[in-house]
Amino acid sequence: MRKSIGSGTLSIVQGDITRQQTDAIVNAANSSLLGGGGVDGAIHRAGGPEILKECEQIAAEIGRLDAGGAVITTGGRLAALYVIHAVGPIWRGGNQGERETLASAYRESLMRAVEKGLGSVSFPSISTGAYRFPVDEAAGIALGAVRDFMKGNAGLKLVEFVLFDAATLQAHEQALGQIEP
Ligand code: ADP
Repeated sequence: MRKSIGSGTLSIVQGDITRQQTDAIVNAANSSLLGGGGVDGAIHRAGGPEILKECEQIAAEIGRLDAGGAVITTGGRLAALYVIHAVGPIWRGGNQGERETLASAYRESLMRAVEKGLGSVSFPSISTGAYRFPVDEAAGIALGAVRDFMKGNAGLKLVEFVLFDAATLQAHEQALGQIEP
């Protein structure tokens, strides 16, 4: 499923993000930047040690990366040239600014891509796994944030959501059906 946004395309597919050939893929990282489970573990396994090495260098410089932020490293052995490590919020019931923090994680990721002049980016569903953000609401926030950003950045030609399971895919398809282009 896809929708034209400005001069680009917003696309939703089911699949494994580690296999995408966009210029960058986004990792749902944690504040330590030192790897974890879920999509984070899958990206480091597939991309090899060079990615973790750069993450460690960044962590040594900046310390922990607050939720809502994103940093960029090499893609190592991945087909994608870069990995953008974004930290989403841990869901704590919805009164701790989780929605705004989630939108920020998407915006900051796209800023890192634009700073490098990249044209295509793949996202997983940030925060809806171990961080337990309810996926239906997360999907609407994610797509809204990406749409708003794409409208102001003509260089972004393709933003793709690569969703691992059918329920997460369905939540994003429904949200894409509802957002204004
Ligand atoms: P978070 O800690 O931000 O919640 P998780 O990695 O636990 O991150 O989950 C985020 C989403 O990534 C979940 O929907 C999970 O199913 C999905 N996921 C796990 N592995 C992959 C993969 N290889 N490609 C795409 N999505 C994945």
